[in-house]
Amino acid sequence: MSIFNKEEIQNESTPTDFVNYVIQEAFLAGVSDIHIEALKDKGRIRFRINGDIIDSEIDLPLDQLPLVANSLKVMANLSYQTSELPEDGHFSANYRNAHGTFEEVDIRLSIFPTIHGDAIVLRILNQSEILLSMAELGMDADSLMKLKKLSMKSYGMILINGPVGSGKTTTMYSIISELSKSEDKKNIITLEDPVEYNFDLIRQSQIKTAVGFTFAEGMKAILRQDPDIVMIGEIRDGETAAYALEAALSGRSVFSTIHANSAIGTISRLIDLKIERGLFSYALNGAIAQRLVKKICPACSQDHTPPQDFIQILGLENENIAYKKGAGCTECNGTGFKGRMGIFEILEFNDSIRSAIIERRSNEDIIAVARKTGFETLMEDAIKKIKNGDITIEDVIKVVL
Ligand SMILES: [Zn+2]
Repeated sequence: MSIFNKEEIQNESTPTDFVNYVIQEAFLAGVSDIHIEALKDKGRIRFRINGDIIDSEIDLPLDQLPLVANSLKVMANLSYQTSELPEDGHFSANYRNAHGTFEEVDIRLSIFPTIHGDAIVLRILNQSEILLSMAELGMDADSLMKLKKLSMKSYGMILINGPVGSGKTTTMYSIISELSKSEDKKNIITLEDPVEYNFDLIRQSQIKTAVGFTFAEGMKAILRQDPDIVMIGEIRDGETAAYALEAALSGRSVFSTIHANSAIGTISRLIDLKIERGLFSYALNGAIAQRLVKKICPACSQDHTPPQDFIQILGLENENIAYKKGAGCTECNGTGFKGRMGIFEILEFNDSIRSAIIERRSNEDIIAVARKTGFETLMEDAIKKIKNGDITIEDVIKVVL
């Protein structure tokens, strides 16, 4: 499926025009990443839209690829010389948005040398998609209330997990953005890699591992900057975790992400990082897991009968559900989907959960305790959204299972 007019692009003349045309069309279509890569005998351009990669059907002769790579390097102020090493940079330029006006778009460039030539990835940092309000994340009323309650606590930590591209940064941004607007003035500082959105009232910093400005070093320094609220892009090691937990226990609100598959998985991950149960169970206010699932296009949504085995996999064979699916229309470029919504699992840390962790009870036991205060798994949240006609069972199997 192509959403681009191939002739139009191919007729553009210079490599810079070509690059700008591709970015312009990608931006309009809501593409998050543009992949320009060298195959054995030709170049290939693909797009990631709503999490899926599609072929663009734009031809790029292999001998043109170095010219395209060079014009991108110029745009990103990188050395024009061909490098044998991976390179990355960023640039911003004005592109036309869906309202017909021009908007400054930030683009992150990554060039990776492969055996056939450069593999180039352009990440379009779409500011209007990165910054959502908490109400726009896709949470149902109960989850939203829980998140608001947790994020408003004056100290303690919230950890969010989920695979790459599951919307963790958007969730953290929505929280700190809301907190930055509060009447009660707070000093908010972030450590990010990369900074994906520039806030006016928040002090944001970019991690530079090459010069030793790591998350751990940044965290150590931030504690001397008198913060009330700290956002850390990611906790990858025990040292960063220890500083972050110390900040949370000493009266700061800390928000970060961590590698785990579920809210309850956060506990095992912190134990792996050699953090004492007594320490993290008191420092944490909540652990959140999330996924992003494609939203059915409301303009072409229609009744749908999913494959029986999919229904059985989710254990829904005895339920009477009006399944929906988008037929594909001009509103959604024929895909049947428009945007994505978050699927969430929120584990609130209360005294019973803390005791269960310290008593080394099993994950099943901890979940049973959490259920008493309304805990729902990712799959339970996803099934509610299938029943609402927001998302498809097919996508839930792909993304949430
Ligand atoms: Zn549609």
